[in-house]
Amino acid sequence: MSLREFLAGLDRDGDLVRVAAPVSTVYEAAALMKKLDPRPILFHNVKEAPGFKLVGNLCADRGIISRALGVPEERLLERLAQAIENPGRIEVVGNPPCQEVVIEDPDLRRLPFLRFAEKEGGPYLTAGIVIAYDAEYGYNASYHRLMLLDSRRVVARILPRHLDEYIKRGARRVAITIGNHPAFMLAAAVTWKIGTSELGIASALAPIKYAKTISGDLLVPADCEVVLEGVVTDELADEGPFVDITGTYDIVRKQRVIEIERVTMRRDPIFQQILPAGSEHRILMGMPREAAIYRRVSEICEVLDVKLTPGGCGWLHCAIKIRKKSDDEPRMAIEAAFEAHPSLKHVVVVDEDIDISDPYEVEWAIATRTQLDRDLVLKPNQLGSSLDPSADQITRRTCKAGVDATIPLGADREKFVKVKIPGEEEVNVNRYAKR
Ligand code: MN
Repeated sequence: MSLREFLAGLDRDGDLVRVAAPVSTVYEAAALMKKLDPRPILFHNVKEAPGFKLVGNLCADRGIISRALGVPEERLLERLAQAIENPGRIEVVGNPPCQEVVIEDPDLRRLPFLRFAEKEGGPYLTAGIVIAYDAEYGYNASYHRLMLLDSRRVVARILPRHLDEYIKRGARRVAITIGNHPAFMLAAAVTWKIGTSELGIASALAPIKYAKTISGDLLVPADCEVVLEGVVTDELADEGPFVDITGTYDIVRKQRVIEIERVTMRRDPIFQQILPAGSEHRILMGMPREAAIYRRVSEICEVLDVKLTPGGCGWLHCAIKIRKKSDDEPRMAIEAAFEAHPSLKHVVVVDEDIDISDPYEVEWAIATRTQLDRDLVLKPNQLGSSLDPSADQITRRTCKAGVDATIPLGADREKFVKVKIPGEEEVNVNRYAKR
């Protein structure tokens, strides 16, 4: 299962935008990705990086991920939760396509690192997945934006999560894999318990095979397009500013430098980038958290759907649809959601008749079903997301809130249910009016 095979399928179905005209890595590629969001786009001719194709917006649509995994869209979260709980076996093969070309002493400036915004600290790689190994925990794979410093060095934004822990425990060698199948991309976006291998999660989602790096001490997806083999150093450099998922500039921080020793790739390589704050960014970051919330809240009540909403950056706001059996359940669901996704800021819990993929419906439920002196859960001074510009981005202190927008059980339901016109769903407009 490779990115190439998947792109060929999209192309056959007419779902891949191919751009043959020369496109610059400086804003132009990013602007096109934004204009075409959420459609997958393949640039054949990158001005500053001859020899590389570039793909963007690959997983920008839940429908595409559903296709890549062969799972209906409404069952994606359940499928992902299953794969997290039952990771697959990691199959290792020799002679991998991702090592068809081996470049020792590489010059990273020849790769299509992109400029996305004027005030960014440098050109970025946003679709790089960092793989590291720890003798006790095994393999970890996680996304880290990488800012290009010079021909051999990048600075990586590393949050205090798994990779950071691996590094503290002595892991230094890393392999950065670029150009992956959606199953691996989604698996790598999962942050579950340390020691749960994202490589295994990917294997449970699709038949992904792995291969040893040239240095021999790490595994990478055998069919990926490009691998940067390197070492995490103790050197710190300024990372940022960078436009993160909120669409606003994230602050500059001192972060670790990774020194790249070797680049391996397929012949005719396809590089990959994720548009910051675009649909792909929101879906990849958000979906694993939706699965975690789904799983955790299911321990309390019957959960029908969970969405990190697009207006909430696919990260800070969550809508949860439940079928409640007591009036305590919405509040308990709110607390459970905050436990499952610590960056979450606002939660709305709604009844089964609300479509939570429609922001109007969620707002309508708030408008017609809540009295905030009764239905609001307010949690000041909590640890939240470093990405929210209205919070303290250093201490991550923020005020969280949950809204119970469900109909009280004892109430007259008829008062609250949206009235339909008899026949409105079946009526065929084309029979009545010319358009
Ligand atoms: Mn992990």
